[in-house]
Amino acid sequence: MKTLIDLNSFTCLRCGACCRVPGYVALEPGEAEAIAAFLGLDTYAFTEKYTRVTLDRKALSLTEEHDGRCVFLQAGNTCRIQPVKPAQCRGFPFLWRSKKLERGCPALRAAVSGAFNLTTYPPLQPKCPMRR
Ligand code: SF4
Repeated sequence: MKTLIDLNSFTCLRCGACCRVPGYVALEPGEAEAIAAFLGLDTYAFTEKYTRVTLDRKALSLTEEHDGRCVFLQAGNTCRIQPVKPAQCRGFPFLWRSKKLERGCPALRAAVSGAFNLTTYPPLQPKCPMRR
């Protein structure tokens, strides 16, 4: 059963929880180049250092630290590549979300437990296939 969430009541707490959930952060075409340029790396060096191939071999994903957090999550819960962060990151939770992230994100849990209004509820895209 789909959970209905009033995303009007969603307020990001900037806790970084969504960046700590282990899983793929898949890159769309052009994103590796943009992030590499932002970091001052050539695309090959960026790909070697910061990406891995997803299990289905259909995409490149950002790597993660041993505890599952994104390799670009910094102290203070800021994103090192904020101006060029992947569409997957920008789309959460408005364009996609998963049960795992619903559980991990306190703001989303609050929105789930709050009231919802179907007239303002944006259509939910299918779960991002690249995020486990
Ligand atoms: S790229 Fe930035 S926003 Fe995306 S998961 Fe990593 S730290 Fe979070």
